[in-house]
Amino acid sequence: MTTARKRSLSSASTAEYVPETTSLGVLREAAADCRGCDLYRHATQTVFGEGRAGAPFIFVGEQPGDSEDQDGRPFVGPAGKLLRASKQEAGIDEKDVYITNAVKHFKFIERGKQRIHQTPKRIEIVACSPWLDAEILAVKPQMVVALGATAAQSLMGASFRLTQHRRELLSSPRAAHVMVTVHPSSILRAIDDAARHEQRKAFVEDLKTIAATLGELRSEPRH
Ligand code: SF4
Repeated sequence: MTTARKRSLSSASTAEYVPETTSLGVLREAAADCRGCDLYRHATQTVFGEGRAGAPFIFVGEQPGDSEDQDGRPFVGPAGKLLRASKQEAGIDEKDVYITNAVKHFKFIERGKQRIHQTPKRIEIVACSPWLDAEILAVKPQMVVALGATAAQSLMGASFRLTQHRRELLSSPRAAHVMVTVHPSSILRAIDDAARHEQRKAFVEDLKTIAATLGELRSEPRH
């Protein structure tokens, strides 16, 4: 039997589901049965991260959306498509990125046949944090990139304001090197084409800065 992983920043109840391992496969399997908060009750399935151990980047979004909930894979919907195109433009190789979400179950309300996204509460973000911690331990990235306010606050604390820290190199108790940018879904929600174009351009510039910062970190002499 595996031992529960306990961390000071993590909710004890979710930690009971997290096996003491750095195997992404074992973690993914265990996450499928997580009951650490109530979000599993209405979602289709847990959507765990994807990518390889040793990837230099972990990109962290907010939570799975409707498409991700049905597919069981992160960033397969329109926001994921925009993210992939923007990363390519910024020169970030797909194989260098492990991608996940701060919260692993889809939170929504039903309106007719539609399932409308709801922002997770702080208590749900904290409840799910042991999974993100376990992914960071398993992947050992050189840089964690938070996409949007929920991911940024999960990593940096509830009072963190993303807009004040874009293109800055940060660090948190959960990851030595953190950078933040917007969530690609916010670009899709822009009020018109002109605003969308501007926001996308700024997003690609953020990603270029993130890639360049990782390059600088790698060229620093090791002590
Ligand atoms: S959202 Fe996270 S903590 Fe809550 S049940 Fe899903 S995996 Fe567990």
